[in-house]
Amino acid sequence: MGNTCAGPTNVGGANGFFQSVTQAVWRQRPADQEQMPDSGEGNTGSVATKNNAPDPVKIPNEEPRKPQRPKHLRRLSTMQLESVLGRKTENMKDLYSVGRKLGQGQFGTTFLCVEKGTGKEFACKSIAKRKLISSNDLEDVRREIHIMHHLAGHPNVIQIIGAYEDAVAVYVVMELCAGGELFDRIIQRRHYTERKAAALTRIIVGVVQACHSLGVMHRDLKPENFIFVNQEEEAPLKTIDFGLSMFFKPGQIFNEVVGSPYYVAPEVLLKHYGPECDVWSAGVIIYILLCGVPPFWDETEHGIFEQVLRGQPDFTAEPWPSISNSAKDLVRRMLVKDPKKRLTAYEVLCDIEAVLSISTECHRILVNYIGYTFREQL
Ligand code: ATP
Repeated sequence: MGNTCAGPTNVGGANGFFQSVTQAVWRQRPADQEQMPDSGEGNTGSVATKNNAPDPVKIPNEEPRKPQRPKHLRRLSTMQLESVLGRKTENMKDLYSVGRKLGQGQFGTTFLCVEKGTGKEFACKSIAKRKLISSNDLEDVRREIHIMHHLAGHPNVIQIIGAYEDAVAVYVVMELCAGGELFDRIIQRRHYTERKAAALTRIIVGVVQACHSLGVMHRDLKPENFIFVNQEEEAPLKTIDFGLSMFFKPGQIFNEVVGSPYYVAPEVLLKHYGPECDVWSAGVIIYILLCGVPPFWDETEHGIFEQVLRGQPDFTAEPWPSISNSAKDLVRRMLVKDPKKRLTAYEVLCDIEAVLSISTECHRILVNYIGYTFREQL
């Protein structure tokens, strides 16, 4: 994950600010250093807070009652935990040998695994059952798997291979992406050229558009959730982590505050949002791709939210003067605070084709020119 990377140094000397991007996530469950749960060992961490806990209700002139947790937050029974997937599955470890750890998130730990029958490598995300405290948690895991199946086949969405469970965990086996996170590549190069950023934008927003047309919003788009299939420069990019994703119907309004601080849309903070929040997060990613720093930044989480709600992104500092007006305009229109006035994913895709064709044309002219002057010198 990005935790090992040094942050850019040109933001108030805030070395390492990117680390907090990955750490400061809401709906936290304990991010322990987990073993593949074969023996049930490890932490016995308790559930962490959720931001949608209901307000306390005052009951006048009545005997004090024992407070009841709302149904969706009540503890799960052993029976419920016995079958998270609602069907009996094969034992994952009969089919795969489990190897080294590939990544650690708030919700799960991902391991390399090798299919015993074929020797093919895959990735396996294990979600420990002891972390599933409420029926909401159970629903989240079921929905994540359901959405992965729903989006299966898209070339830039991680392919689910199968889902298994045993007494201690749920296992999601996926195609392996060994090329690391987009996050790490941004950190390595500080920022991308406009041409490369445009090509990545086409992929990222293409995924958003596909999700939205299938009635899914991702709700946690960030560079850590895009991983490369291999180490090559031009490796295909895949979207992962549908753990906060949700099905939506046109016009449906959501109020649960979820996401990651730098990338969260203002309307999510205001608890009144729909799929437009993904376009905002994609806009934040594109801004970072182009200049290497986030558009809404502060030392504290509260400060970041203030910036998201009221701040305006800077397009004057380096390298923005050398970035085309069409690219700046596109990012600006993705970061409009009013979701109704924001570009849709489809509109961004139409725009990006124009940006890409301009940049391809400039590239062609430049290559021709260099070729011409080179021939002249001969
Ligand atoms: P988060 O805290 O960001 O919500 P999470 O607990 O839901 O994370 P994931 O983001 O799905 O877990 O996975 C955690 C990490 O494991 C990723 O950041 C990535 O580095 C690694 N990882 C996930 N899926 C794969 C895969 N298919 N191939 C290789 N590595 C992967």
